[in-house]
Amino acid sequence: MIDESTVAAGALPATGVPAEQVLAELRQLRGADRPTHGGRLFAYVYDPAVTGLDDLTATAHAASAHVNGLDPTAFPSLLAMENALVAAAGRVLGAGPGSAAPDVVGSVTSGGTESLILAVKTARDAHPEIAAPRIVVPSTAHAAFAKAAHYLRVALDVVPVSPETLRPDPVAMAAAIRPETVLVACSAPSYAHGVVDPVTEIAASAAAAGVRCHVDACFGGWTLPYLRRLGEPVPPFDFSVPGVTSISVDLHKYAYAPKGVSVLLHRDAALRAAQYFAYADWPGYTMINPVLASTRSGGPIAAAYATLRHLGDDGYLRLAAATRDAVAGLADAVRAVDGLRLLAEPESTVVCFTATDGGPDLFVLVDELTARGWHTQPQLSYAGLPVSVHLTVTAAVAPRVGEFGPDLAAAVAAARSAGPVRLPAELASVLGALTPEALTPEFVAGLAGGLGLSGEPGSGAGPLPERMALINTLLDTAPPALRERLLVEFVSLLQRPAWSAG
Ligand SMILES: *Cc1c(COP(=O)(O)O)cnc(C)c1O
Repeated sequence: MIDESTVAAGALPATGVPAEQVLAELRQLRGADRPTHGGRLFAYVYDPAVTGLDDLTATAHAASAHVNGLDPTAFPSLLAMENALVAAAGRVLGAGPGSAAPDVVGSVTSGGTESLILAVKTARDAHPEIAAPRIVVPSTAHAAFAKAAHYLRVALDVVPVSPETLRPDPVAMAAAIRPETVLVACSAPSYAHGVVDPVTEIAASAAAAGVRCHVDACFGGWTLPYLRRLGEPVPPFDFSVPGVTSISVDLHKYAYAPKGVSVLLHRDAALRAAQYFAYADWPGYTMINPVLASTRSGGPIAAAYATLRHLGDDGYLRLAAATRDAVAGLADAVRAVDGLRLLAEPESTVVCFTATDGGPDLFVLVDELTARGWHTQPQLSYAGLPVSVHLTVTAAVAPRVGEFGPDLAAAVAAARSAGPVRLPAELASVLGALTPEALTPEFVAGLAGGLGLSGEPGSGAGPLPERMALINTLLDTAPPALRERLLVEFVSLLQRPAWSAG
């Protein structure tokens, strides 16, 4: 079993440990995690609750785990599976023979962030003559665009969204395009609120300006088409929309594949060309990489391939129907509770709610839901948008919906009687005077200790206390730049080997 000495020594014992013991250690470690199955986790994990799928994907993963995507000619199995995944994603997203986008090509990446970094890189590198490239995104665009801009030294022009519709004004998006703009992006749907941006108008103005338009369908690209087939009013967002030049879709989200697979599609091969990196100017093998990684495991690709083949088109339609019904049920549960309101009417697979005036403290409510076995995601207030609670709804939630309403009502009652969290006065004044630049690792270590946050590997306790309301309140008080610095220092405290503690 894992004990202090195991943790301090690290993963490499002087003599090897028997397989059963290693697996027992893994099970023990996994015991501290949030439950990945059971339909009560509304973030991080996408669960279709299909019997046998985990076993199938584990076997498929294992069969290809040692295969290297570095060289598609050495391992044609991976080339075939990647091309099959790209074709499947293309067909779901309005491409393929007989469509408006018959020449779509794509790449399999490790996740949505990598897909977005590559979309930005490709747009940037297609214009070497632009010395200081820029991209235009709505304020609800995924943070991965900011990461891409930061990594690639591309300037980020952020267009605010309307507090009512949570969408950007297409006219404002068009007005933000400058001569240096290499890419305009929008979401279908946004992660935070699950709303679809006005893709048709945004793509049209980008095309008129001669600029690429990326649709970030990482989250919902695999569900929106099925919801449309089920009769939901899904606006156009895919390659059927003129001006859309690339689309990303995460297979490890609503295609229900195990983690590590996203697809980046381009309308044609010429648009993809600048994505490749090739290097022959060294004595080793000539490197030709379509994506960020060079050596790549075949495991996630084979697991995704197995998932798509096993679930099939009818499977995804059935899962989308179950998810749609679950979303409707959860939204009704929110509407039924006094003190809460939906921040956006659900139009995809997200339920996002906030408190009405005089409603409960949402950070306390999130803790009360956790205490009742429901893991939701609090979203801090931002640029005029209130604190909200985000639920990513997957098919596994469907059988649980009936239990959610009563628990939500009870959690609201408990949060009301507990009252809002108040920051200790001295802490509030220290924070008020704190600037991101002045924040030191020592300050954060002291703060973390004072808040009962354990940075001690092997301490047995999780890094976070059961009740997060105080910490969320503290973060919510801080402006974004200070939130970033506080969390970087805190996570940096967690991410270090046990022998460096103390
Ligand atoms: C999840 C998500 C991403 C980032 O994907 P990762 O797989 O976490 O890197 C990007 N955009 C949207 C809309 C997402 O929901």
